[in-house]
Amino acid sequence: MHDISVVVIGGGGTGAAITYDLCERGLSVTLVERGELTSGTTGRHHGQLHCGARYAMADTHIATECMKESRILRRIAPDAIEYNGGLFVAVTDEDCTHTESFIEACLEAGIPAQSITTEQALAYEPALSEQIQAAVLVPDGTIDPWRLALHFFAGAKQTGRAVIRPYAEVVGIETGTSGVTGVAVRQLITGRTETIPADIIINAAGPWAGTIAQLAGADLSVSPSPGTMLAVKGRLTDMVISRLHPAGDGDIIVPQRELTIIGSTQWLSSDPDIVRIPEGDIPFLLRAADQMLPSFSTRPHHMAWAAARPLYGSSRVTDDVRSLSRDFACIDHGQVDKIRGLFSVVGGKATTLRAMGEITADAVCSACGITAPCTTDQKRLPAYRSFYTGGLYGAE
Ligand SMILES: Cc1cc2nc3c(=O)[nH]c(=O)nc-3n(C[C@H](O)[C@H](O)[C@H](O)COP(=O)(O)OP(=O)(O)OC[C@H]3O[C@@H](n4cnc5c(N)ncnc54)[C@H](O)[C@@H]3O)c2cc1C
Repeated sequence: MHDISVVVIGGGGTGAAITYDLCERGLSVTLVERGELTSGTTGRHHGQLHCGARYAMADTHIATECMKESRILRRIAPDAIEYNGGLFVAVTDEDCTHTESFIEACLEAGIPAQSITTEQALAYEPALSEQIQAAVLVPDGTIDPWRLALHFFAGAKQTGRAVIRPYAEVVGIETGTSGVTGVAVRQLITGRTETIPADIIINAAGPWAGTIAQLAGADLSVSPSPGTMLAVKGRLTDMVISRLHPAGDGDIIVPQRELTIIGSTQWLSSDPDIVRIPEGDIPFLLRAADQMLPSFSTRPHHMAWAAARPLYGSSRVTDDVRSLSRDFACIDHGQVDKIRGLFSVVGGKATTLRAMGEITADAVCSACGITAPCTTDQKRLPAYRSFYTGGLYGAE
């Protein structure tokens, strides 16, 4: 047990994984979330457990990390994952030209990609277009986004060292001569504002991380990058189906329980609270889905929605959103902005949430002179349901 008070800002998957990791290492953590837990991007993403194949041709490091983390998540949080596998399919001659280099890139990243015949692919997934020209099997899967985050919240709660406070909005970061001293929090239910003292503050506010950093006078390059997804009723495939071409828009179809979801598009927004689906996204996504699964657009629509990626990097220096990295970073503002005790973690994916927790907890422990190894890759997480049993939100 360490006498250091930590506040984590943001109750998405990243905040959950950081809180769990720090509590496992013996620190006491208060997590504050302005809405319900997972009400940010975490509760609205596509739900693909990335094995990394999507990134293999562009970035071996990210691909390898996804492979490693997807294996760990399958082991520590099996109840939140359907390990149903993935198929990359070529639908045009141009797609076919990538097959060999795609498989090579996957193998180089440690992803066991395997070419299969189109007949085999159609036997696995009869709803696929009969026009597909090549197919590659990869170890993708489906995540239940809410349950995965709740597994980590449940793990944190089980340590007895976490206090989880939803409907608590951070409105200020307080600093003194030796660094941060606390966060000013407005309780959205009572309207009351209070200060929570903190030696360490971790900004895990996803696409809102730039706004939180500004409260402390720090400049953080985060580009909120929304994307649209569309779900139709019916489970058209069991595997995740991706288009075999360099990663682009509308090229992933994820089966999620009794729904099938096509996504996504991508644009830049200055405000993650204002995310409107652009005109044209829905017809574009339907056309893109039909190229892989011709019956997609005939199914009754369930819903369309959009959420913002927390991409690390500045949209001020590029208009090309795909040029921004899909990697994540943990920034120690003590070193960068002379604000001791403040850390931000941005970027990444739901698939890499545990690794983001580990790297952030490593940075915090190192700054505090604590030597406690990470154990979160070894221990199976408690049932996600246990978060809601035995007292609501934690040790308080
Ligand atoms: C379209 C799309 C599809 C995606 N698909 C996938 C996928 O298939 N697989 C995958 O692995 N990843 C996917 N991702 C990425 C993944 O969703 C994100 O990387 C991940 O959810 C980010 O989680 P987070 O906890 O960092 O952010 P969030 O979930 O956004 O959490 C941040 C939290 O901070 C809170 N907050 C903000 N301001 C304050 C404040 N002032 N005080 C207190 N709390 C505050 C917010 O309410 C929010 O809940 C996708 C993303 C998008 C946009």
